[in-house]
Amino acid sequence: MPDLPETVRIREVGPRDGFQNESAVIPTAEKIRLIDLLAGTGLKRIEVTSFVRPDVIPQLADASEVLAGIGRPEGVSFSVLIPNMRGLERALTQKDRFDEANFFLSASETHNSRNVNRSIEESLADLEGVVAPAVGEGLRCEGVISTSFGCPYEGEVPVDRVLAIAERLADAGCVEIGFGDTTGMANPAQVRRFFGAAAGRLEGVELTAHFHNTRGQGLANALAALEEGVTSFESSFGELGGCPVPPGSVGNVATEDLVSMFSEMGVETGVDLNALIEASATAQEVIGRPLGSHVLKAGPVSWEGEA
Ligand code: ZN
Repeated sequence: MPDLPETVRIREVGPRDGFQNESAVIPTAEKIRLIDLLAGTGLKRIEVTSFVRPDVIPQLADASEVLAGIGRPEGVSFSVLIPNMRGLERALTQKDRFDEANFFLSASETHNSRNVNRSIEESLADLEGVVAPAVGEGLRCEGVISTSFGCPYEGEVPVDRVLAIAERLADAGCVEIGFGDTTGMANPAQVRRFFGAAAGRLEGVELTAHFHNTRGQGLANALAALEEGVTSFESSFGELGGCPVPPGSVGNVATEDLVSMFSEMGVETGVDLNALIEASATAQEVIGRPLGSHVLKAGPVSWEGEA
């Protein structure tokens, strides 16, 4: 086994990626309650909402109210997803309420066009124009690249293309690049090769792994990334979220599953697993259906033998 990193950083994306993909709109007060719970678990990074057009994604139409209503605990960095200049302008009216801005596009032409109705080149040009002013406003910027490990419409997505997009985003001012396995196509061998290549080309950029559990390989892929030296992960409490393509697919790797695996391996996450499970249990009540997370069902590993 290779030497593992001693600590990892986990960004909780459930309040954005998860709440956005629920068919029912979660009441603003419940979102605020859940984010406050998450912020008390030891998670240091939380993506709290997105400034997308309210008529396009009504689930997140209350972005401003959520930002205004959540607590602002010391040591927890809040990020918001920004789709375009209009979104940045809206977000900046509450500049003191968050720390990081995340920008996204897809590495597959078909997926990008279905998602934002643009070519990759058009998206990159747009984002370059938005990231620069965001950096100018003192925001820490992350670029997130969907379908980095495969596309449901096009199949293989060449690593070179993904890394070329990542380089453009880094040149534009993103100090972190997230690589999303949007429909759960990645496998651990591929993940190791991918992050090996990425580390060589993106020196000084924080590389973040964002895996979906669509085919049950989210944790295996996270372990492969960890073994390749990746120390930054994105996941979603309760296994919320994910991409609605293919239909019925499950969501992001559950944060509590990731935290449980890492901490059982001796890799420090800083997260209080019991508090996180409580947050997921509360989300399950609010949403009103069983969530996919394993640790939420099974509870934490106990070496006392009481369960
Ligand atoms: Zn996701």
